[in-house]
Amino acid sequence: MTLLYRSTRGDATNALTASAAILQGLSPDGGLYVPTEAPKLDLNLQQLPSLTYQEVAFKVLKAFLTDFTDSEIRNCVNAAYDDKFDDSLIAPVSHHGEDYYLELFHGATIAFKDLALSILPHLMTTAAKKNHFKKEIVILTATSGDTGKAAMAGFADVPGTKIIVFYPSQGVSAIQKQQMITQVGENTYVVAINGNFDQAQTNVKEIFNDKDFQAQLDAHGFQFSSANSINIGRLIPQVAYYFYAYGQLIKQGAIKNGDTINFSVPTGNFGDILAGYYAKQLGLPVNRLICASNQNNVLTDFFKTGYYDRIRPFFTTTSPSMDILVSSNLERLIFHATGEDAAQTAAYMHELEKDGHYQVKPDVLKQLQATFSADFASGDDDQQAIANVFNQSQFAIDPHTAVAKAVADKYRQSTNDTHPMVIVSTASPYKFPNAVLSAIEGHQVDVDGLDAVKQVQEHINVPLPKAIETLFHAQVRHNNTVQPDKMQEAIVKILNIG
Ligand SMILES: *Cc1c(COP(=O)(O)O)cnc(C)c1O
Repeated sequence: MTLLYRSTRGDATNALTASAAILQGLSPDGGLYVPTEAPKLDLNLQQLPSLTYQEVAFKVLKAFLTDFTDSEIRNCVNAAYDDKFDDSLIAPVSHHGEDYYLELFHGATIAFKDLALSILPHLMTTAAKKNHFKKEIVILTATSGDTGKAAMAGFADVPGTKIIVFYPSQGVSAIQKQQMITQVGENTYVVAINGNFDQAQTNVKEIFNDKDFQAQLDAHGFQFSSANSINIGRLIPQVAYYFYAYGQLIKQGAIKNGDTINFSVPTGNFGDILAGYYAKQLGLPVNRLICASNQNNVLTDFFKTGYYDRIRPFFTTTSPSMDILVSSNLERLIFHATGEDAAQTAAYMHELEKDGHYQVKPDVLKQLQATFSADFASGDDDQQAIANVFNQSQFAIDPHTAVAKAVADKYRQSTNDTHPMVIVSTASPYKFPNAVLSAIEGHQVDVDGLDAVKQVQEHINVPLPKAIETLFHAQVRHNNTVQPDKMQEAIVKILNIG
């Protein structure tokens, strides 16, 4: 059987194959693609500890991408998870204090988005071939810092593609900015906007849904697709590391096969944690998925009350990849929690777009709370978590991981839940050196960028990842800044379709 994908806002009769959904990115009705039935995973938990990351990824992808052949999936997996990762396990689990850290920062841009974005270009070009696609794919992406860079690293010089990335000029770390402006690849374009991530993401969505603009692109032989986690091809590869983590815990003797565990996930756009939800649906023994937010705690309130309210102050924090008030992937969870009610999901999302808030019904909230817990960490909690873990274990965590750690601690204190806790670790401490150094030294330091990296290294004694070593000798290639309402104009210029 072929597993089909339908829109969260539309009719299941318009469902597409996986490869078509990957090419399309966002559904024309504004909804996100979700599987029309439960994928069937051919994986026995008992065998998990003996499988490599690549083998687990293969099995997970095979369950979801049923119109891909085995050899197509295998080629994509092998091209993605190779020595671009500086750890042969790809996603190792380490044990510090009472917690397990699932390290998702060993890829080309030292953040977790590498796990999905090193494979997405291969899935997409394979999908293009399968669908006899003649147009050039233009990847249009809004980034809070990590997605854009990881997407460009994946798509750079991939034939038949161009990639255009918008990022908030003041909303990313010094290292992230340097990574962005030095990106190589003749098909990569980077534009800063004088605004925040939500503005960038909202405008990208609008540009995507602009029928006239689509026609203009089409006439010039281009079609947009998305590398944001709204693309199902981005989400599915992430399911693999939840399974892989479980196998490693068995291997390390931390759990027995069948034991349930918790994951605390630092959350922004709700892509990472949603992959955990899909892993649980596929049979992974997960007790709680803990949704950890920074001060932009819209999801904390939502999971506690069922009221989603984006009308609130926006904070720029030390965990910028989570500075998000509209979490796109939550729409998929809402769809599932409403019993796959597309009309209800569409109504909530339209309320959110129009009024800035919506309230889900009590039975939907109950459904959500059956799996998810949620809390947030303030800036102080975050700094404290970095310092505590470092002082106890000589292990340095980045500010995003620290949000998950602080929230895991809060969760344990308030529940006395003793299930093994996996902290999903989403970035290398070298990616956010100012925050890490400030926490370790116990006071706010002024240095940032390479100087801060060097000082962090003196403390933590972990070899510099290649991504950092080469960064500050790299040539600046992108220095374009526009107002948020001029993004479409910028695209017209880049593609030369005016
Ligand atoms: C993107 C990102 C997150 C948030 O992940 P979502 O899938 O958007 O919830 C957390 N930490 C880091 C370092 C990230 O880059």
